[in-house]
Order: sequence, then C-alpha cells, then structure tokens
Amino acid sequence: MSAPSNLPAAPGSVEVRAGPRQFGRGRGKVRFLGLSIAVLTAGFCAASGWTLYDLRQSTYAQAVSSETNLLNALSQDVARNIELYDMSLQAVVDGLAEPKLASLDPHLQDMVLYDRAASAKSLGSILVLDRDGVVFRGSKAGAIGADLGDREYFTAQKASPDRGLFISAPFTRRVTGDDEVIALSRSLKAADGSFAGVVVGTMRLAYFRELFSKANLGRLGSINLFRTDGVSLMRLPYDPSQIGLSFAKSANFQQFVQSPSGTFTGKATIDGVDRIYSFTHVGDLPLVMNVALAEEDVFAIWRAKTVSIGLGLVALCAAAGVLPQLLKQQLRRTAEAEAQLSRSEAQYRLFADHAQDVIVRLDRSLRRTYVSPAVSNMLGYAPEELLGHSFSALVHPEDWPNVAVLICASQAEGANTEATYRLRHKAGHHVWIEARYSLVDEDGGFIVVLRDISKRKAAEEQLEALNAELARVARCDALTGLSNRRHFDEALDSEWRRAKRDRGAISLLLLDVDRFKLYNDRYGHQEGDACLRAVATAVASGVRRPGDLAARYGGEELAIVLPGTDEKGAVQVAERVRVAIESLAIPHLGNAGCGSVVTASLGCATLNPADEEGEPSKLVALADARLYEAKRTGRNRVGTSMSDAGVAPDALHEVERLGVLANYEKNGAARSSDSLDRIAKLAAHLLGTPMAFVSLVGHEEAILVGRHNVEMERVRRDIAYCTHTIQGDEPLVVPSTHADPRFSDNPITRSGIGFYAGAPLISPSNGHKLGSLCVVDHRARPPLDAAQRHLLAGLALLVIDDLESRRAASETDSPAPSRTRAA
Ligand code: GH3
Ligand code: MG
Ligand code: MG
Repeated sequence: MSAPSNLPAAPGSVEVRAGPRQFGRGRGKVRFLGLSIAVLTAGFCAASGWTLYDLRQSTYAQAVSSETNLLNALSQDVARNIELYDMSLQAVVDGLAEPKLASLDPHLQDMVLYDRAASAKSLGSILVLDRDGVVFRGSKAGAIGADLGDREYFTAQKASPDRGLFISAPFTRRVTGDDEVIALSRSLKAADGSFAGVVVGTMRLAYFRELFSKANLGRLGSINLFRTDGVSLMRLPYDPSQIGLSFAKSANFQQFVQSPSGTFTGKATIDGVDRIYSFTHVGDLPLVMNVALAEEDVFAIWRAKTVSIGLGLVALCAAAGVLPQLLKQQLRRTAEAEAQLSRSEAQYRLFADHAQDVIVRLDRSLRRTYVSPAVSNMLGYAPEELLGHSFSALVHPEDWPNVAVLICASQAEGANTEATYRLRHKAGHHVWIEARYSLVDEDGGFIVVLRDISKRKAAEEQLEALNAELARVARCDALTGLSNRRHFDEALDSEWRRAKRDRGAISLLLLDVDRFKLYNDRYGHQEGDACLRAVATAVASGVRRPGDLAARYGGEELAIVLPGTDEKGAVQVAERVRVAIESLAIPHLGNAGCGSVVTASLGCATLNPADEEGEPSKLVALADARLYEAKRTGRNRVGTSMSDAGVAPDALHEVERLGVLANYEKNGAARSSDSLDRIAKLAAHLLGTPMAFVSLVGHEEAILVGRHNVEMERVRRDIAYCTHTIQGDEPLVVPSTHADPRFSDNPITRSGIGFYAGAPLISPSNGHKLGSLCVVDHRARPPLDAAQRHLLAGLALLVIDDLESRRAASETDSPAPSRTRAA
C-alpha cells in the first residue's frame, strides 16, 4: 500500500518512537558537516597562509630588486667618480716621473699634472708630499710647505708603498678647506723604486650625502658606505656621529665582507631596526656599500593585508566552530518536530486503521492513494483492491452528477464539503454513505471520511413511509377509505384557486344515498355501513382522472371534485357514478320508487372561478341545490343546470297533465275561491311568511287561484317559480332567490321576492302535478325544516282536496262549464 505524505504507508506495526533514531542520524550528519567545515576552513586557512607567504616573498623579492637596482646605480656612480679621481692621481704620479717635466714652465707643469677632473666640485685639491710628508707641490699653492706626515693617507703609503690606491677614513680638512672629506692617495717612487712621497687628493663627503639623498628609501630605509675594514664613510639617514666609526665587528658587516655582493636580513647595530640588506663591493675599490629597506616599510602593505585576512580567517574559524553547534541545535529541533509529527501520524494511522468509518485519501485527480481497512466491512473490498482507482467508479450513477458538482465546487472554492450518496458493495448492492471531504492544501486532493448510514437511511425511509401513511390516514375517511371532509375542503379550496389562476373550470358532484334512513331502519346500521363502503367503491371506480378527488362529505353524502372539468364532462362522470351505484344492485326495499335497490342522487355544479366573486362554498351551494332538485324530482338522478330551467316534461305527459287540469277547469274547480285563499292564508300563517298563494300551471301561464297578500293573478309560465315546483314530488324550497342561480335573474325575484317554498299539487287519481301551494317572503329566510316541508305538503293536499271536492260538486250540480285562461 503506497502511503500519502500525511498517512503512513504500511499497515501493521506502528513506529511511534522515531525521534532518537532520527536525531542519531542527525548527529552523524552534524559530525560529517563539522568535519567538512573543519577541512574546508583548514584548507582555506592554508590557502590564505600560502597566499600571504607568497605575497611576502614577492614583496621581499621586489624590495630586494629595488635595493639591488639602487645599489648598482649608486655603487657605479661612486666607483666611477673614485676611479676618475684615482686616474687623476695616477696622472700626477706619472707626470712627476717624466724627466721632461722639469723643463717646462711651472704653470704648464701644473696644467699637465692637475687635469680638470681634479677640479670637479666634489673633489678637493691634489697635493704632492715628499718622503717626509711635507707638501712640495699641489693644485693649491697655499698648502706647499705644510707638514702632513702624520696623516693616515701618508703613513699608510709610507708603510706599504706598493699598495696602490688608498682611501682614508673621513676627516676634516685643515690645509685646503674645513669640510669633511676622505683622502685618496698613491705613493711616489724614486728611480730606484724606493718610497719618494705621496700624491693625495680629497673627496668631499657631501658628494656621497647628496648622491644618497636622491634615493627614496621609505621611512626607515638606509644606505651605508664602508671601507672594507669597517670604517663608515657615509650613511643615510645622515648622522655625523656615526661617520668614521668602525663597524668591523658588527654581525651585519661580517656578512658584507664575506662575499662580493649579496642580500640578507638583519638588525641594524646603530638603531636596532630590522632591515633587508643588499650589499656590494664597489668595483675593485676597498669599499663596500649597502642599501637596506626597513622590513617595517617593505611589509607595511603586506602586514595590513595579513591582519585583515587573518581577522577574516579568525572569524571564519569562529563561525566554523559555532556552525556545527547551531546546526546541531537546529537538527535537534527538527528531529523533535519530526518525531512529534511521526507520533501524530502514527496516532492518526491508529485512528484510521481502527476507526469504524472508512478513511480515504484522494489525490487531485480523485484517485485513491490510501484506504483504511474498515472499507472491507463497509464495501467488501480489501483496501489494496481500491488503490489507484478513481473513486467515481463505485458511486451510484444516479448520485454521481450531484457528487461531481459538489467536489468540483469544493476544489474551485477551496472549501470542505459533505455529501450523502450510495456506493456499490462488492456483492453488487448499494450502501448509503455519508462522506465528509476535507481539502488537502498541498495537492488539491481530499481526505474523505465515509460513514455507513444504511441503517439510518432505512429508518428514515420507514419514518417517511409512516409519515406518508399518517398523512394519508389523516386525509382519509375511516369507513369508506375516501378522502375525509377536511381533505375535501383543502382540496376544493386549492383547486378553486388553481382554476381561478388558470382561468379554467372546476366541477363538483354532491352525492346522497337515496332513502338511506329507511335502509338503516330496515337492515341495521352495520349493513348501512357496509352499503356505504360499497357505494364509496363504486364512486371511486367512477373517478378516473388523477386530479379528481372523491371524499365523504358527511353521513351518507359523498363529494367528487373534478378540476378542469366542464359541465358536460362532470355530468358524464355523475351519470357514470349513478349507474355504478345502481349496478351494485344492493337490495333496498324502502327505495321502491327506484327499483328497490340502493341508488343515489347527485347534484352537479360547474363554475369558472375567474368569473365568480364567491368562494368555493358557492360551488357547494349550487351542487347542493341541484342534488336537492334531483331528490325532489324523483331521486336516482343527476341534478344539473338543465333542471334549473325547469325542464319541461315530455310532451305526452304534458298533454295528459293539461287534460287533467282542463277537467278541473271545465268543472269550475280551477277558479279563484275563498277556500283556496284561506288555505293560502293558513299556509302563510303556519309557516310565518307574509304572503302565500295557490297556482295552477297552465300551458302558458300560472293562474293564482288562491292568494294571501298577493295582488298578482297570473304569471308567465317561463318565469313562474311553480314551473320548477311541479317538476318534483316534494316541496321546492328556495331560501334565497337572489342567491339561487336558477332564480337570481328572474323578474319576479327582481320585483322583490327573496324567499320561496312551494309544494306540488299532486292529483291523487293520476299523479299529475297541477300546480303548487307556495309561501313567499320579500326577504331571504332559512330553509324549511322537514316538519315545515311536511306541513306545506300537507296543506297542498288540502288544496287538492278542495279542488277535487269542488270538481265533484260541479259534476253533481252539472254547472255550466267556465273557461279559464289557463286552459
Ligand atoms: P333521501 O333520499 O332524501 O336522502 O332520504 P334519506 O333517508 O337518505 O334521508 P337523509 O339523507 O336525511 O338521511 C340520512 C341518513 O343516513 C341518516 C342516517 O341514519 C344515515 N346515515 C348517515 N351516516 C351514516 C353512517 O355512517 N352509517 C350508516 N349506517 N348510516 C348513516
Ligand atoms: Mg342525506
Ligand atoms: Mg339520503
């Protein structure tokens, strides 16, 4: 199993004590690094040392070169001057030996003997001394006769006449001047070769001083001219006290005389300064000259560089010494942090390995790089089987689009996310899981924690089903299984509003089982319930559209809401339902008028709510009125808008009816009479209305043959309320003529009649309805209760009796027939 950076790889043993080992490795690193630094530092120091040494050597070589060049130039100058002077002395010696000299004029003799060189500025006069040291000739006449026999230049030549040129120690001239000079002398020989005197010339020390002073030797540099016996002839820096002293015993001078020329380093006897000495013997003369630069001057720049480089090296060494310690500390901290991290990772690994939830690490392309062992319990796979594969493969295809959107959004917004979806188990079924995706910043992948929520999901589904069932039960009527009244009200209300919005129609059927009271009375209440259930089933079978709703309105009354259904469609449904109930063929002996089986009457109403001002109750009222009309007009039928208009009975039936009526009229029974007025008055009195009348419905008009507080004697048949009344067997009650769509536009209603109730006058011999006994009021009133309707129907019987008795009496008396307009 490959391991992501933040989850350890190998399953199994967990290393939680990684700290010391890591630090041990760190210590080895420090040692190696320390060693490396030491080697590098030593190398650098060595290189720097070598460079400084080389620089010193080249500085030294350069100084020696400069010294040597200067020394050569100076020594050559000195040698040439002394040699020239010596040549002048030699010329005097040679001249004096010439026999012809004596024959020359004394002035010419001087010109021959003392050439121009001897008259140079740096040179003094040339004197010739006899064998006793007395001057007997000279370039300066004033010196003749002076006894200079004690002088070193004389005594040295006298002691050793063959020595050649002698250079004296410095002295102050007495005879030819008063400045510091050295003397150069050569001996004169007699013809027999014996000592005959000395030729001597002086050379000013100022010459050397000037010559030396031209050289730039730094602050402490020096130039010395010695005689080879160690006597100092000139020195720079100039110090008169040192001139003429012998340095023959000084260590430095010992070196001067050991070789013709050379270079060495030594400490000066005079001032104790360390110098680099370059020396040379001046030509073949008994002189040695040195030029010495002070080490302090020569190495000043080198020293400054050495100091700065040295300081740098010291700093480097110090850093090299401290760095490993700092590194060690840093490594220790890092190691501790790593150990801590390692312990944390190990703990996380423990959690991951032993957690019930599955922990998955996804890389940026959503491939698994780690899966915790709990996956085998959850999905049946070994973790290894899932590594390297895209996680989408196991997600339920229906859930994948949502999950993909969530994950893309999470990666885009850099926010964690959660999702609930299904993963495919190895066995093929799906497992509901809840997943929490935590973004990993480094690579844009995720750490996902998966939790099996199958049980919870199942419980939720059960609960959902239970709730749905509860809701269904709450909406349901227990006896019939149809919707209950509350649900009906809600459904009607919302469908009404929907129809209003859609400007569509809505229909309502109200159904009432015919003579059900009698059914209960005869068969018992339980049978009544069973009958109701059967009726409800028949109703449900007649309701076919999904939006239709059948409900128990109350008692044995059912209701059917038909959204988007026009009147024609609604009447069809109503008829279908009516037939379905009748077809159940449940015996109902009390319902003899309807085939002695269980039947129902329906009121059908259709409205377009957008065109109506009222509420859904208006639809209910209309359907109720038509249901009532259906009841009144014979039951087992559908009351519709057709029945509103007072549908004319079939022609044959009407002809018969008019014939019966004509029979009454023929016998004078169908005329106004006091007895009928009294019955009308009685009806008004008993039912509490201000007006009442008895009407007979003729071919075109209704004739008011009995009246109480009614002026009108006849009314057009098409607008007369009685026209409706004679359609049914029972009283027609219109509590509010203004609210009843059948009568709201009626001219009689508009003339001020608000309430109407009329009982049909049914002929006892043939059942034809001749007219009605009516009570009316100017204002609307509550509907008549059953007793009042019964009373009205009873009074109607009185009217029939009255008509009948008058017809019988007239037939007996054979009264002359009287024509009525109704005929
Ligand atoms: P009509 O044809 O005019 O409707 O006659 P009817 O006898 O059905 O008259 P009505 O509607 O006034 O009578 C309703 C009766 O229905 C009253 C009651 O005995 C009966 N009923 C109402 N609800 C139930 C019920 O849940 N179960 C049973 N068994 N009978 C009920
Ligand atoms: Mg009823
Ligand atoms: Mg009923």
